[in-house]
Amino acid sequence: MKALYFEEHGGTERIVYGERPLPEPGPGEVRVRLMAAALNHLDLFVLGGLPGVPIGLPHIGGADGAGVVDAVGPGVDGIAPGDEVIFDPGISCGRCEFCAKGEQSLCVRYGILGEHADGTFAEAVVVQAAGITPKPGHLSWEEAAALPLTFLTAWRMLIARGGLGPGETVLIHGIGGGVSLACLELATMAGARVIVTSRSKDKLRRALELGAHDAIPADDEVARTVRKLTGKRGVDVVVDSVGEATWMQSLKAAAKGGRIVTCGATSGPNPAEEIRLVFWNQLSIIGSTMGSREDWRRMVEAVRAKELRPVVDSVIPLKEGRSAYERLDRAEQFGKIVLRIGG
Ligand SMILES: [Zn+2]
Repeated sequence: MKALYFEEHGGTERIVYGERPLPEPGPGEVRVRLMAAALNHLDLFVLGGLPGVPIGLPHIGGADGAGVVDAVGPGVDGIAPGDEVIFDPGISCGRCEFCAKGEQSLCVRYGILGEHADGTFAEAVVVQAAGITPKPGHLSWEEAAALPLTFLTAWRMLIARGGLGPGETVLIHGIGGGVSLACLELATMAGARVIVTSRSKDKLRRALELGAHDAIPADDEVARTVRKLTGKRGVDVVVDSVGEATWMQSLKAAAKGGRIVTCGATSGPNPAEEIRLVFWNQLSIIGSTMGSREDWRRMVEAVRAKELRPVVDSVIPLKEGRSAYERLDRAEQFGKIVLRIGG
């Protein structure tokens, strides 16, 4: 099969388009012929090499995809060749204490497709049957492929872990990336007032069109501006996936009793900290990674019921996939960068 892969860690120049063996589904697994796949920041981290995460080389990246089932492994019920599907990118063991509780993203052997196993930047991928879901009918192949990782992450952060409710106010740093846009859509759906930040005026304008209530510059005045917009009160929930560059603003923008939810640190993992703000304002700092199968099921159901659509930035043919990595690396995108594979 044709695939995008790399044989050595490094920059985007390592990305090769060529032939890789067609994978065979094992017990409890399904092979999907991909129609489309989508990039995440994770793909750049995996390409660069993650300390402590050994990756077999050559490696095919990609957590997100949508396609048609073409083979099922032993012990798989209820899924047949021809089914149009999307799938949870999380890989869990199904046996540890956390899997037994239905907390798959806490699995002691948790992995992500395209990181711990060959991913979706190929004509076919093998995935766990337990994570397979029918493709929501209102989505195109490109939109369906853009959905899984960011909407699952956003769902767990905001709804399952953050407990965001109607009438609350949420601050989302750095609008334009997949997770922040998914958070904007889900927070609006939940009936919250959403404030977003960006350094790009164009991204702020587009976020307002998508339903953000306020869009403010991402500078070191964010907390002050948020206080002005909220009658000095601050926000109930802060979504911070940026890390070093935004953490202090997150602490200062949160209302008393506020929750700060983190799922990443794209600007670096070691921010300046102000512990007095945490105890005096009784803030909750909440970590979140991917989501459980239950989070996945609820998220897809909400997307289907409310006809939510992920924002697609651009669609690039698989064989030109290196330019997709380059676009992501330059942080130019507003929404998801999608690879067209089948059709
Ligand atoms: Zn497990």
